[in-house]
Parts: sequence; C-alpha cells; structure tokens
Amino acid sequence: MKCDRCDNPAAYTRKYSGEKLCSQCFSKSIVRKTAKTISKYNMIKHNELVAVAVSGGKDSLALLKIIKEMAQTHSFRIMAITIDEGIPGYRNAALEIVEILCDELNVEHKVYAYKDLFELTLDEALDLRDNEKTSSCSICGTLRRRAIDYAAKDIGADVIATGHNLDDTLQTFVINMLSGDTTKIGWMDPDTSTNDLRKIKPFCEIYESEIVFYAFTNDMPFQSEPCPHMNEGIRTEIREFLNSLETQHSGIKNNLYQSILKVSE
Ligand code: SF4
Ligand code: ZN
Repeated sequence: MKCDRCDNPAAYTRKYSGEKLCSQCFSKSIVRKTAKTISKYNMIKHNELVAVAVSGGKDSLALLKIIKEMAQTHSFRIMAITIDEGIPGYRNAALEIVEILCDELNVEHKVYAYKDLFELTLDEALDLRDNEKTSSCSICGTLRRRAIDYAAKDIGADVIATGHNLDDTLQTFVINMLSGDTTKIGWMDPDTSTNDLRKIKPFCEIYESEIVFYAFTNDMPFQSEPCPHMNEGIRTEIREFLNSLETQHSGIKNNLYQSILKVSE
C-alpha cells in the first residue's frame, strides 16, 4: 500500500478521511495541522514567550518538539515548565523523560512543585479532604491551574501552551454536560487571543490516536504509566465510550468537536 502523497509505503490510514500516509508525510501533516490551528485562532503573536507545559506524557512532549521547530522559523520564544504534584513513583519518572527531551531540543526547563507552592503534595492535600466526593483530579486540577498561572508569571510568559488534544476537549465537554456544569461550555472556545495571559491548546483539532502515532513514529519516549488516581473520576469511562463510537462511526469525534465549537460561541 503506497502513501497518497509520495512513493513511500503507507504506515498510517486515517480512517475518517481514508487517507493513507507514510511516516514522514504523516508527521508533516501533524505539524501542518498544528500550525494551522495556531494561526486560525491567533494563538501566538510576535515576540511572545510561550510557556509549554510539559508533563512527560505523549501529548505535551510532541507539542514541545513541534512548537520548538516552529519557534526556530518564527518570531516567538519558548520555555518548558513542569508541574510536580508530588505523586510518588509517577511524576519522578516523567520528569526524567522531560529533562532528556529539553536537553536534546535545547529548551530551558523549570519545575514547579505543589509542595513548594502550596506547602502540600497532592497526596497530602487528598488526606486533608473532608468530602470524599471531591475527586482527586478535581483537587489536582485546581492546584495545577494555580501552579501553571504562577509558573507563567514567574518566567514572564505571555502564553501557556498545553498538549490537550481533541479527545480531551470532547471528554471535558461530556463531563461538564453530565454534571450540569453548563457555564464551563463557553470556556471551550479555542480563541483566547483577547485574554491577558492566554492558554492555548494547539492540538485541540487532532485526535489522541494521531498524537500517539506521531510520538511512536518519531521515536519519542514518553510516560505511558497512568497516574494512580486516573480511574477515580468518570473520564476513563467517557474516553472508552467515545472511542467505541469512533470505531463504529469514523469521524464522529470530529463532528462532536464542530458541534462543541458552535455551542461555545
Ligand atoms: Fe492529577 Fe488526576 Fe492528572 Fe493524576 S490523573 S495528575 S490526580 S489530574
Ligand atoms: Zn509519503
């Protein structure tokens, strides 16, 4: 089977479009799609400093690699930041992977720990909670947002870029709908160009499965071990539900994403 764009053998088939691509053309398509999203939503402006939040997972590492390549030919600068929640045996392994990639790419990297910022690791904060109904991820998410805002101010960043992909957006939308939290739906607009400190998601139009293949085909090591708290919330069930829908109805995630954009407006 040949690549649709060159004479190399195809390595990936985009089920929703039927396109067959070799590894190189596939990687180029991801870089191009990311650049298109950044430009469509005015995500980065001239001379800005972009803080790339890098956790050590495939999405944020792939984002760092792609955005670093772009920074070399555009007039913006980047720096990597990692938030250390203090989850034993989980974050340490990821930090090593991040350090190696930052060295390879020659990107400055700073780590911000919950313990230093809030005098508590995540696990210590969870021990203090009086209501077991508040999930670990919701406590962690609140602390992470504050930590990222602090980190961005600390390094003087204009923009914070995160590796959230299209699947993450869909899952968050469904979770908000199921919990009755309709106010957050308006926050899903990818255009944050009028905000002071902008939070951008350059992968918001790319399927998670494509980021996985990008990391795989570019020989990028990433942390695949899930966080020990990951299955406490409903997100895993929603992810599996959306994946099974996509298997049966290729392109349904793209359709839902387009609907979310319209509702957000
Ligand atoms: Fe925090 Fe939840 Fe992510 Fe673990 S899975 S790092 S607890 S948000
Ligand atoms: Zn090709």
